Amino acid sequence: MATRRGIPPRGTPFEVVRTLLEEGGMHRAELARHLQTSRATITNTITTLLEQGLVEPETLTSDTATGDGKAPLKEKLVLARRAGIIGAAIHQDDSTIVGLGEVDGRVISTRALPCSPDATGPERISTALTALRELLDELPAPHPPLHGLHVAPNTLVNRYTGEVLGGATSTRWSKVNIRDEYEEGLGTAVVLENLARHAAYAQYGALESPLPRNLLHVSLSFGVALGQVLDGRIISGAHGGAGELGHVSIDSNGPICRCSHRGCLFNYAGADNVLEESRIVTGTALSLDEAIDLALAGDDRVVSIFSRAGAAVGMALNPVCNLLDPDLILIGGRLARAGDVILDPLRDALFRSALPLFGRDLRIEPAATLTDQALVHASLRALRLDVDLAAAVLAAHDPATVDAS
Ligand SMILES: [Zn+2]
Repeated sequence: MATRRGIPPRGTPFEVVRTLLEEGGMHRAELARHLQTSRATITNTITTLLEQGLVEPETLTSDTATGDGKAPLKEKLVLARRAGIIGAAIHQDDSTIVGLGEVDGRVISTRALPCSPDATGPERISTALTALRELLDELPAPHPPLHGLHVAPNTLVNRYTGEVLGGATSTRWSKVNIRDEYEEGLGTAVVLENLARHAAYAQYGALESPLPRNLLHVSLSFGVALGQVLDGRIISGAHGGAGELGHVSIDSNGPICRCSHRGCLFNYAGADNVLEESRIVTGTALSLDEAIDLALAGDDRVVSIFSRAGAAVGMALNPVCNLLDPDLILIGGRLARAGDVILDPLRDALFRSALPLFGRDLRIEPAATLTDQALVHASLRALRLDVDLAAAVLAAHDPATVDAS
């Protein structure tokens, strides 16, 4: 991206493209206000971008899609598909969701790829790459340039190097560099974000105004993980490891965890522990859904197991709240289906020890069930935080345009 010294440029193609990327469709007048420039400047820039086919009226009709580079003055303008597309791959425990979208985050297509929880990383990547290529082939040829891919793996990964680090899930991902595999497979920039952090961003994207300033999303399943969206941004940490709540110790004399430390939350609130304790009290090896159904039916023996798990999560969240001061905590993951059986003890444990400032207005609620479309949409929007898509769009079309910005 080229910038002028002194007064920053206003209303350049780069700025208009970036604004449409970040804000979505806008009228000319809105663009002029947003970029603090004149309508005449914006009209000149838009005329150029219309002629290049990089922007188009939001609603293409037979009248507007005449290819003459014109658009009704009052029509909202959006980035055209010709500007390029971006993609997503979300690796959940038992499925992979892939999708394609416009560079401004509008979803074009999604596909769900069921897989065994035991499938290896290379198997999952191979399946996802095949599906992404098929989705690209379904676009009218020649398909626009692919400017980036957002990948959310269900493993602890260094998001900047692609290196997989530790953990039981990670053994299935070992010996594979996730970033390199996707970059080589599709020849595009790849941004990694751990699934828990991505889930938090997707939940944030599904909320209605007023949006929370600081959102925490706790995923309670066979792993226990936290995602945090502070002031609208995912907090990933220096390596992508911020939010490993499952390995926060709540008892220095507790059982030894698979991470070799003692008393990690994971050993109290993870689904494996819930199932083992349920097996002991019922004498039956239950599935997780069966255990949750017993808890919801009021079976005291199982309710107390979920209650202890919820209280343990509440204890572990206390220092997190002291550090981050969230205004909304969403509880998701498979254990969250137990509803208030797990949420009430969680709230009790957290609020019992909460400081007045964060405790007074903090809400703790179940997370929403998101569609594949919402998950892909969140990936496409998150990509903008790490890839300069405006520069990529202009460079792919005409490198001179970027230099001129
Ligand atoms: Zn641990």
